[in-house]
Amino acid sequence: LNERIPVPGQPYELQQLGTKFNTLLEQIEDQFEREKSFVANASHELRTPLTSFRGHLNLLRRWGKKDLEVLDQSIHALSEESDRMERMMEQMLMIARNEHQQIRREKVDLSILVREAVEQFQPRDHVKFEKHIEEQVCVDGDKDQIRQIAVILLENAIRYTEEGKIRISLYDNGEKAVLQISDTGIGIPEEDQDKIFDRFYRVDKNRSRATGGTGLGLSIARQLVENHNGHIHLSSKEDEGSTFTVHLPTGDSPSAL
Ligand code: ADP
Repeated sequence: LNERIPVPGQPYELQQLGTKFNTLLEQIEDQFEREKSFVANASHELRTPLTSFRGHLNLLRRWGKKDLEVLDQSIHALSEESDRMERMMEQMLMIARNEHQQIRREKVDLSILVREAVEQFQPRDHVKFEKHIEEQVCVDGDKDQIRQIAVILLENAIRYTEEGKIRISLYDNGEKAVLQISDTGIGIPEEDQDKIFDRFYRVDKNRSRATGGTGLGLSIARQLVENHNGHIHLSSKEDEGSTFTVHLPTGDSPSAL
């Protein structure tokens, strides 16, 4: 892959072909590097729950029969870790599938879909939901993928808000469907804001882990939004909260699928 076609000095068509070939090679190399680092990160991330399993199994072996508190705590920790590991594996599969799958196209009523997604999470003790959902905001796309975007953003808003409010708004701005999920949670420091969409990136690994996070949600959300020719934007202030805004082309806008 390190070979390059020398471009200058060739007839024009050959130069063009060479340039195209080199660009393609670069793209293949990039993809190859991305996959290599994904596999390395993934195996590291899967090792963490395994280490924790081993630790708790040792505890159980030593104290499980004598100390009921150890028994309870370890069983609880093992069950949380295995749930998180399962989620991580599901999300990894989702990433692999997304990279090689064409998306289905159908008319999706976002208003219904977002309302259903929010209902799935209500009620919560520590957060209040506030909904401003316009009727019949429709896009062309894959229902499951779009639902997944809303679920990821809602899960994060709940996960990173200790006590406060989550505001969900949906409207059509004449060209795009705009879905906005705001929370009054911990916020994201400025220096981390452009990295949180990277796979496995977390501002605070322990906090993410303790609440069942995997570091993959936002990278999946961004990929799903881009599958629909949309974009996702974050604005956040530490200790004040975060707002994620998703723009998706509506059925009749020129950039729709
Ligand atoms: P995770 O499973 O860790 O939540 P994500 O990819 O969904 O992974 O998010 C990446 C990181 O971005 C999180 O670990 C967290 O640090 C930060 N983050 C995401 N959403 C929010 C939010 N609503 N408020 C504060 N931080 C957030």
